Order: sequence, then C-alpha cells, then structure tokens
Amino acid sequence: MNSFVESKEVPGKGEGIFALKPFKAGETVMVGMIEKVLEQNDSHASQVAENKWVRHAGLISKVNHSCEPNCGIKVNETGGHDFVAIKDISPQEEITFDYAMRNYTVNYFPPECMCGSPKCRGRITGWKDLPEATKKEYRGFVAPYLLELDAKLAVK
Ligand SMILES: [Zn+2]
Repeated sequence: MNSFVESKEVPGKGEGIFALKPFKAGETVMVGMIEKVLEQNDSHASQVAENKWVRHAGLISKVNHSCEPNCGIKVNETGGHDFVAIKDISPQEEITFDYAMRNYTVNYFPPECMCGSPKCRGRITGWKDLPEATKKEYRGFVAPYLLELDAKLAVK
C-alpha cells in the first residue's frame, strides 16, 4: 500500500522519502500501520496521545520534517497516522510533514532545522511551541490529541 514512495539518501541530510508518482492535494500518500506501542518517546516515535508513543511500520518513521510540509496527518480506522497530501506533489519530490503535527514536544532532534524552507522556524519544535497562525493553517492535518490537549490546557 505504501509502494508509491521510496527511500533515498539525501546529500547532507541522511535518508528521505520520495514520491514515485504525482499526488493530488487530499490524496493519501502513505497508510499508517502501527507496528508496536513504545515504552517512551524516541527519535522515530509517533506520539498518538498525551503519554503514548508508537512505532509506525514501513517508511513512515523515516519521513523528514519540514516547516513548510507537503503532507499532514489523518488518523485512520486502525489508529495509525495516514500521511495525506496538503498540496499537489510531483514525482521525485521529497515527502515531508511538520513534526509539530504529531508531537506535542520534540526532544530528540538537533536544535537547528535543516528544512531549507523560507518559512523555516529555525529549529524543529513541537505543537506546544507552534505559532497560533501555523496551528490554524494545519487544521485537519494534525493528530487529534493535540487539539484535545490544547482545549484541556486552555480550561486551566
Ligand atoms: Zn525548518
């Protein structure tokens, strides 16, 4: 099901995931399958609740961060995170998402972001540190628990 993307070395960046066909905005690019539930957060973990992290099967855990991503997250019926195109993607374009769409805090990455986008925030941050305007922009493409956490914290 994830056969329309491939893993390649990116000079200076390590591994990245690339499109093998064009995707239209709204199309599912990668289907999320949870491989196992983790004891704690790590650099390839997906956060799925306030205190729950999982490992996704296949190439999903290798998708790089961008501050101007071409994919977002939608939870599927298995509880996994599907990657859905938020803009049209061309073949050979790198698949990216914003780690803040999935992780409330980001603890396991170098402080400096290397995404190279003009919109780069300078460092990879979690949802917690995302500007309000960016949160609005990403609406519908982030892990739902993030919105629940925001609502819970706003009440306090
Ligand atoms: Zn960046």
